[in-house]
Amino acid sequence: MSHRRKAVVVGAGPVGCLAAIMLSNHGWKVELYEGRPDIRLPSSKAASQQRSINLAISHRGIAAIQSVDPNAAQRFMQSVIPMRGRMIHHVDGRLDSQIYDRDGQCINSIDRTLLNEDLLQEASSSPNIRVFFEHKVQGVDFDKRVMNIRDVSQSCELDVSFDLIIGADGSYSTVRRQMMRVLRMDYQQEYIRHEYIELRMPADRDKEGRLSFALDANHLHIWPRKSFMLIALPNQDYTFTCTLFAPSSELDRLDSPDKFVNWFGTYFQDALLAIGEQNLIKDFTHNPRSPLICTRSNPYHYKDRGIVLGDAAHSMVPFYGQGLNCGLEDVRILNVLLKQEQVSPTKTGNEADDLRLSRALSRYSQERHKDLIAIADLAMANYVEMRHLVTTPLYIIRKAFDNVLYSLTRGCTTSLAEHCGTLSGVEYAEGEPRGWVPLYTMVTFRPDVSYDTVRRTAEWQKRIVEAVGVTTLMCVAGVIWGLRRSKMI
Ligand code: FAD
Repeated sequence: MSHRRKAVVVGAGPVGCLAAIMLSNHGWKVELYEGRPDIRLPSSKAASQQRSINLAISHRGIAAIQSVDPNAAQRFMQSVIPMRGRMIHHVDGRLDSQIYDRDGQCINSIDRTLLNEDLLQEASSSPNIRVFFEHKVQGVDFDKRVMNIRDVSQSCELDVSFDLIIGADGSYSTVRRQMMRVLRMDYQQEYIRHEYIELRMPADRDKEGRLSFALDANHLHIWPRKSFMLIALPNQDYTFTCTLFAPSSELDRLDSPDKFVNWFGTYFQDALLAIGEQNLIKDFTHNPRSPLICTRSNPYHYKDRGIVLGDAAHSMVPFYGQGLNCGLEDVRILNVLLKQEQVSPTKTGNEADDLRLSRALSRYSQERHKDLIAIADLAMANYVEMRHLVTTPLYIIRKAFDNVLYSLTRGCTTSLAEHCGTLSGVEYAEGEPRGWVPLYTMVTFRPDVSYDTVRRTAEWQKRIVEAVGVTTLMCVAGVIWGLRRSKMI
């Protein structure tokens, strides 16, 4: 007799919701367990407003949602604010717009809760998916295929059986910790020596009470100050969410609201004007100083019965705005591998069928690992670029050089529609960028190019740029030397 396979997904964050929808599309029976209350309830909304409000989603994340649920992707694009480039705020008040992509591609500011609610709504309305809130997973017995849950609302515990468990329960994942007890998983965790504080920049209001943005809404604003920086992303209600990233030692010195306001005014004068002193003091005293964590794991699966995805498998620093994009892409890649290995949603008792699932999960670990390491490293490196390099002449020359080569080789590159189109089918992201594609464009706008290929391509591009730089310098030096010898200068 054949039964439908049952998957339990732990964590109803964006990655868990998308994973549940993906498995339900395959015909699996899915149960989605979330430790917190339903975010769609008004009482939860008040609580979630205390947390980070928005994030930037790029084509990688959109292509991933599109490959699993095209309707959700289309709906969600209606509530984003496109950001065409970075707006650099210099200390002297000068503004400098750096467009992300010559072809006009944008990253998108989206309300975190809205995105999560949308995917949760989609999951809840699927007849194959049952969602349980306030159900906190405490333990997993992988050999017996049973997990133990605390039902917070009823104050009781229960055991739930599964064929496959997906851990999408965030950076401090219980599923990952349980998996480490039965699996020789390499695991590394690092807190960087910087922290972040979120600050709210209110909307401007004119005499008639009409609201408008205090800054240009179609840019991601950055105030790079070498060892620290402020960024701001727009929200639908005309406010901006600002995030201050700074070394813990710098923040330790600012131990009173007065010191903080003075310091803030010295480095971010225009932001202080837009936020207002009272609002700044309120946020400084109420909002937490949060840590930045980076975790790496390997492998990500256990036999044919467990896998971790999203932040549960890999947390990264947020400086490439790729954490969630990458987590959503995890789901797209797993989807592709389940299709390629022809994993059936029914249990037939046939050993070959179970082997297919175990092969799909094993391929995921093998093929995805290098990409996850690559993006974690790129994200770390991008912090230096954002808080300092973006203002240096060398960076600006390099960007101009990239753009010239990008334009010259444009005929070789494919359009976004072309490469997003290929991603909905049974296809892995293993394209090579044709022509010269700048690093930021590859990471952000080219989901057909894996993060590992991006990194390798960026390395050879760097070697070429260095060679061109050295050759140019030698030619200039040679010409000057020649002119001096001939006493012309
Ligand atoms: P989460 O969103 O953490 O969801 C995990 C869920 O699991 C939660 O709902 C939690 O309640 C639940 N859970 C946990 N434990 C249990 C349990 N035991 N039982 C049941 N449920 C459980 N990424 C981007 O792509 N772009 C950005 O611009 C960006 N900006 C960022 C800015 C900052 C300051 C930070 C810190 C991160 C940023 N990120 C960004 C990263 C992004 O927030 C994360 O990568 C993303 O939220 C991960 O999604 P997830 O679904 O894997 O995990």
